[in-house]
Amino acid sequence: MVDIASIKSRAQSLEDDITQTESEIKRLNARLSSRQSELRRLFDTCTHVWDQVRSTPIRTGGYLVEGDPPGVGGIDRRLPMYVSATETPCWTRTCVKCGKVETTESSRSETRQVPRF
Ligand SMILES: [Zn+2]
Repeated sequence: MVDIASIKSRAQSLEDDITQTESEIKRLNARLSSRQSELRRLFDTCTHVWDQVRSTPIRTGGYLVEGDPPGVGGIDRRLPMYVSATETPCWTRTCVKCGKVETTESSRSETRQVPRF
């Protein structure tokens, strides 16, 4: 026999928990947003002193894509294929005062004249 009163009671308790959790999430999201704004303000007011720029390339390893298993034929049969490893140039710098870390994949070419004797 189903005890409707018990089910309704548990449903109400569950609903209360959900309401309380949603309320807490809303409050924590507001707090997070406020703290992120404060952090941005602190970074923005820092007169950054950048440490030496480090090269931090983004590397992805090569891998093998298995082809179709033996026995599969036809014009659309896929053969095994090796996907080469890649390396994307990237640079990172850190502010020695506030600890802000910046990374970039953007660069510009620079030509220098060096005296030759
Ligand atoms: Zn700084």
